[in-house]
Amino acid sequence: MDHPLHLYNTLSRKKEAFVPIAEPFVGLYVCGPTVYGDPHLGHARPYITFDVLVRYMGHLGYKVRYVRNITDVGHLENDADAGDDKIAKKARLAELEPMEVVQQYTVSFHQAMALLNNRPPSIEPRASGHIIEQIQMVEQLIANGFAYAVNGSVYFDVTAYAKDHDYGKLSGRVLEDLIAGAGNERRVLDGQDEKRNPTDFALWKNAQPEHIMRWPSPWGDGFPGWHVECSAMSKKYLGETFDIHGGGMDLLFPHHESEIAQSQGSCGRHPVNYWVHNNMITINGQKMGKSLGNFITLGEMFSGSHPKLSQAFSPMTVRFFILQAQYRSTLDFGNEALQGVEKGLKRLVEGIKNLDKLKTSADTSSFDVAGLIQKYYDALNDDLNTPILIAQLYETVRLGNLVATGQEKITTTDLTLLRKTASLMLFDILGIQDEQNAGSNQLEGVMDLLLHLRQQAKSNKDFATSDQIRDQLAAVGIQIKDGKEGATWSL
Ligand SMILES: [Zn+2]
Repeated sequence: MDHPLHLYNTLSRKKEAFVPIAEPFVGLYVCGPTVYGDPHLGHARPYITFDVLVRYMGHLGYKVRYVRNITDVGHLENDADAGDDKIAKKARLAELEPMEVVQQYTVSFHQAMALLNNRPPSIEPRASGHIIEQIQMVEQLIANGFAYAVNGSVYFDVTAYAKDHDYGKLSGRVLEDLIAGAGNERRVLDGQDEKRNPTDFALWKNAQPEHIMRWPSPWGDGFPGWHVECSAMSKKYLGETFDIHGGGMDLLFPHHESEIAQSQGSCGRHPVNYWVHNNMITINGQKMGKSLGNFITLGEMFSGSHPKLSQAFSPMTVRFFILQAQYRSTLDFGNEALQGVEKGLKRLVEGIKNLDKLKTSADTSSFDVAGLIQKYYDALNDDLNTPILIAQLYETVRLGNLVATGQEKITTTDLTLLRKTASLMLFDILGIQDEQNAGSNQLEGVMDLLLHLRQQAKSNKDFATSDQIRDQLAAVGIQIKDGKEGATWSL
């Protein structure tokens, strides 16, 4: 296989040709959501980015196993292992069982992802379903001298690990700076006194008597630390070393740095060949945050019910907006920008669909169709440069319009290829849906199927079924007319 796809590897800080470990198979792990609140704009970007990556890798012929976890336990409010478990806190405030909170927000996350046309991952493991695997990894880390138990909790020993390993390589942190920084905060955080060193992180936490989410372990009842779930689950489903690990840049430290330390410390191998990180979303130039009043859930986005929005924006407008920036650049959301994108998307979808209506009888093409198509691929191969691909699709629409007015010429063969590839890029790889005609497209598909089934019934002389299809459709206002060329329908 050729390896045209290049991805920016955060670990090497370079764009590298993507070569999988066991072609054509690709193992991809992406950190999933902690399900304690409504899905928001911050969830849209990573999952759209990696959805496009999976779609494109599928098109290139790879067989991707996409694992994306659900964090339903162990994610504390504070990165230094202090504060409440986010889900337990929400459960207490809402007077629900923690697993009721998990269920409610897992369902709303799935609904939002489906609206954004993100395909589901191949495996969606939950942290609470992999306690045994996490305990096993913690035991291995203790046996290897990289972790220690104290008062029913277990911590990763960063100092011991850093003697022979480059801790901080992924995130570009220097251990000495981290120690100095952590020392200043040390007094204000609980649980710190148990650690040998403030940079150590929790692998297992002792559960206080009031803590509901608890499991037996060799160290007493407790619950796993947040970082160890991803190491244990990626190892279980993708192996000790796999191809790609994705997530937002906000997860670089401490989460992904800790994942590397845990995997390396327990298995003796770096877990991931390509680390791929998407940049963050800002809103009118500001970081998104509940305290800033600019925290927008996807539900508010789709309904327009947030004070920062003048109208509702459809899931495809949000998707297209996100794809108009390369995934590693920052992206600023704003009402006006979204309005512009909404118009642009409509124009692009109509333009690409209009290629189907073009008639041509030219002997030669007046522009380089193969070259244009190559530019689509060049854009995606260059670290998923979706804005360049989108620009080339607009260029395609412009050329299509010139063909329609006779100012450019295209052969039938070229036109067929261009139609097919342009719609593949827009609808299948970028995952844009034609929202304007979504209902009627689906109806056409359903009606094609029903007419086909009715024809089959007639051929089998099963007139009871063919009449039943005709009568039930009539009852909902759809008329079928039989003619020489087969049946047609009208509303
Ligand atoms: Zn993770």
